Amino acid sequence: MRLTRFFLPILKETPKEAEIVSHRMMLRAGMVRQQSAGIYSWLPLGLRVLRKIERIVEEEQARAGAVQLLMPTIQSADLWRESGRYDAYGKEMLRITDRHDRDMLYGPTNEEMITDIFRGYVRSYKDLPLNLYHIQWKFRDEVRPRFGVMRGREFLMKDGYSFDVDKEAARHAYNRMFVSYLRTFARMGLKAVPMKADTGPIGGDMSHEFIILAETGESEVFLDKAILGLEIPSQDTDFFSDLTPIVDAWTAPYAATDEMHDAAAFEALGPDQRVSARGIEVGHIFYFGTKYSEAMGAKVATADAGDVPVHMGSYGIGVSRLLGALIEANHDAEGIIWPAAVAPFHVGLVNLKSGDEETDKACEDLYDRLTAAGVEVLYDDTDNRAGAKFATMDLIGLPYQLVAGPRGLKNGVVEVKTRATGEKEELSPDAAVNKLL
Ligand code: ATP
Ligand code: MG
Ligand code: MG
Ligand code: MG
Repeated sequence: MRLTRFFLPILKETPKEAEIVSHRMMLRAGMVRQQSAGIYSWLPLGLRVLRKIERIVEEEQARAGAVQLLMPTIQSADLWRESGRYDAYGKEMLRITDRHDRDMLYGPTNEEMITDIFRGYVRSYKDLPLNLYHIQWKFRDEVRPRFGVMRGREFLMKDGYSFDVDKEAARHAYNRMFVSYLRTFARMGLKAVPMKADTGPIGGDMSHEFIILAETGESEVFLDKAILGLEIPSQDTDFFSDLTPIVDAWTAPYAATDEMHDAAAFEALGPDQRVSARGIEVGHIFYFGTKYSEAMGAKVATADAGDVPVHMGSYGIGVSRLLGALIEANHDAEGIIWPAAVAPFHVGLVNLKSGDEETDKACEDLYDRLTAAGVEVLYDDTDNRAGAKFATMDLIGLPYQLVAGPRGLKNGVVEVKTRATGEKEELSPDAAVNKLL
């Protein structure tokens, strides 16, 4: 992508309304634009990151046996009347009336709709287990939308739902998502800690929030340092084998949010083991049994016990919130430092003297070679000052900067800068291309 043909509206001023670094940087780097409180347009640079995150989620969901579909954003209130949540949900729900005076709503979540889909088609335990998910915009009329995309009103969520014949099978479904979430966040370069979460009236131990430690997080969290050193399950994990040992290892060390905090258990840890910190909830997995299947008549025939309501769980990931969380975890004074897996481009190519025949030619050649090899390059071919080009590259945080100017080229070299370390290397153009492949 050539910067002269891209749309990257960099802001020079730091927007006053942004309280935290990720929000400031997303606005300054031209990733999002606020359209009204908690509602954002995704500008091209931001959208590229959002799509990268989605791809990782999709790959890891597929690995764990979940199947993607797509449900609408607008739902009928009738479904929610069946579950009893239409009145219970309160002011976070955006309620809409259509021209025929029918009550509609912009979905804040999809338990009712997925249960309706399930009951429309599935009759037998032989069709289970089943896990269906989508990645779709949600609307929650949050009392206090803030921190940019971290607490939006319209936000992108991956939400999945599992269906099983009994609690034991549902536990296995839960474990698959537990392991899948560990892998999903790790692939984005994030350390997400599963923490015991509230199960409400369902009870039991099958609710975990996945939390990124960050000072600006809205939750207060308490954990045993040991959990930070555990190994992420490998990509060869057989999701249909017994995952209990992995889940047991990850749930043995103490880790809880303030809602579930057990001060005595935490204090019993050694002083060097105790970590109390703040965190950002990026995912939440939850077994809720037959709450919706019973209310909405989603039953399957069993081999020997007649028809039973199906056991369900739900599994959410805050896809758009993750952009904020990623920046909170990866930045310096100059700007964002994207982990390679989610970076909007891999390389920023900086032409130090656009218009200089030799430099233009060298840059075009580097651009063509990298692009042909499938490397995503953002080529700054504008005639801005070198200083401004460097500042933009540091701000938008691509993993590598490839810099070519007349002086270096005379000596047969270009410069490769690694954004994360600031390390700079002078290399021949060939060696630079090889390094960036
Ligand atoms: P929170 O405690 O932050 O309000 P939640 O517990 O209400 O989140 P869930 O219903 O568990 O959210 O939804 C699944 C995921 O969706 C959350 O773990 C979070 O990452 C994301 N999410 C929830 N609300 C928002 C929001 N207002 N803006 C952006 N992401 C959100
Ligand atoms: Mg909430
Ligand atoms: Mg929460
Ligand atoms: Mg939650």
